Amino acid sequence: MSIQLGEQNKPPVSLKKRLGAAIISIIVLALISTQVYTQLLNPESIEELSRGVCEQGKVLRPSSYLKDKTHLEYIVKDKAFREESIKKVIGAVRIPTVTYDYYEDPLVNPQQWNNFTRFHAFLEAQFPTVYQNLKVSRLNGFGLVFEWEGSNSKLKPILLAAHQDVVPVEQETISKWKYPPFEGVSDGKYIWGRGSSDTKTLLISTLQSVERLIHDGFNPRRTIVLGYGFDEEIGGKWGAFKINEYLINKYGKDSFFSLIDEGGNGVSFIDDVAFGVPAIAEKGPMNVNIALTTPGGHSSVPPDHTNIGILSQLVNEIESTPFDPSLSGNNPFLNFIQCVAKYTDEYDKDLKKNILKAAYDKVANSKVIKFLHGIKKFRYSIQTSQAIDIVHGGVKANALPEYSTLVINHRISVDSSIDEAINKIIGNVVKVAKKFDLGVYQNEVEVLPKTENGYFELKYLGLAPSPVSPLDTKSWEVLSGSIRHILDDYVFPNASAPSVVAGGLDNANTDTSKYWDLTKNIYRFKFNTLSNIEDVGTHSVNEHILIDDHIHLIAFNYEFILNADEADDE
Ligand SMILES: [Zn+2]
Repeated sequence: MSIQLGEQNKPPVSLKKRLGAAIISIIVLALISTQVYTQLLNPESIEELSRGVCEQGKVLRPSSYLKDKTHLEYIVKDKAFREESIKKVIGAVRIPTVTYDYYEDPLVNPQQWNNFTRFHAFLEAQFPTVYQNLKVSRLNGFGLVFEWEGSNSKLKPILLAAHQDVVPVEQETISKWKYPPFEGVSDGKYIWGRGSSDTKTLLISTLQSVERLIHDGFNPRRTIVLGYGFDEEIGGKWGAFKINEYLINKYGKDSFFSLIDEGGNGVSFIDDVAFGVPAIAEKGPMNVNIALTTPGGHSSVPPDHTNIGILSQLVNEIESTPFDPSLSGNNPFLNFIQCVAKYTDEYDKDLKKNILKAAYDKVANSKVIKFLHGIKKFRYSIQTSQAIDIVHGGVKANALPEYSTLVINHRISVDSSIDEAINKIIGNVVKVAKKFDLGVYQNEVEVLPKTENGYFELKYLGLAPSPVSPLDTKSWEVLSGSIRHILDDYVFPNASAPSVVAGGLDNANTDTSKYWDLTKNIYRFKFNTLSNIEDVGTHSVNEHILIDDHIHLIAFNYEFILNADEADDE
């Protein structure tokens, strides 16, 4: 009834108006149907798929910065401070704190570690206020822990870590260095020398930040700890291991707000967007030693395959069966490429969609794996690596070899395990053993019985892939917000898009494996725009850093400490 009434009450409409309304309706209808049609064909838009993926928290500027920028700008812009910073890094590089695999327990053979005594004297001379204001502990002779006690003991401390030692320089490569490796040379833009990148700039930058904070009158609520191991490059069993023990004894398990150490993928531009990429996990290192024992004899009457020949077949078998790639939602590398897919146009539309769906859609996942596997620098982010690095065998030209060995170095994928990796290698060994009727022993347990032809012996030592640090924590908010603050305000103030911080994966290993019990929030990150390992000569010739990066690293530490201090625990 009301409808009839309504229609009766309607004023008369002109033909022109009716025609206009009809045309508009047709256009609207056409638009809607096109949209429905595209949605039917392609129900998931990139925007839809990106929802909830790689969400960026706030750019975090400490309240002290919002009130007064001069303290931070002194670090970033003051010429005298820059010169002083260069001198400090150069001075650190000039003390060759090299470690070799054969180095002995520092408490048993301290002379071997003399350069570390010199290094400590250098640090104390360079940072008198830090030494006066913080509690300094020396662990196992050369491990250094600085504690700046906060006023609120209920708040979890933060740990900033680095290592004092550097890898040796191969004598044969010295001529390839632009400047002698331990001279520590600044050319105004870069600082050159062994350890400049790995990790003396990190170590010096943390001390410089703390020194500035003391100078600027900061009184922490949250305890700040600096921890510097001295044998990271040879495994960390005396340095970081002992530091962890000390911190666990004093503060307890899971007692730290967060930990930042070396590693990660630094800072780089991807399609006009500045990315900061701290690693939130690292792969598991494992070495497998395989020995083959066979009967000897005179080489004038050899068998078809000598001991070395059989071992070579094993090498061939291992290398022709690489580990299967896999990419689960747990792998931080997926998080990283999802961030790239969401915020840049680095990938085409289809690839973007597949990346965004890869955690739950099998077809998409396999397409992404295929793509990543084709790119050398990405391949080992989704796959356990195997590198046969050492082979020994044979003693005399006219004697059949009776014993040969090889060493395989693995970095186990975060989607895999020590068991899975070792089972693959055992499978390779058993296959070759059966072909030549040989026995197999794994860590002294019989897999196949010894025969008159001999046997393989396999031993391994490995560390599981690290836990993945969560991205939904206050600690991550503080880290990522602090990185974005320095990126957007100082490193790339003119960038066309805001920066993105993406948790990624480290293929290499760090001291952090010793600190798993201290906190679940472990980040490997250095403010470094020369993020490609080969570019900076880490562990190679011409190691160097960009001076601007060092300055930004100090600024980042400074603001990170302040932001962490303002934050509450979870
Ligand atoms: Zn290192």
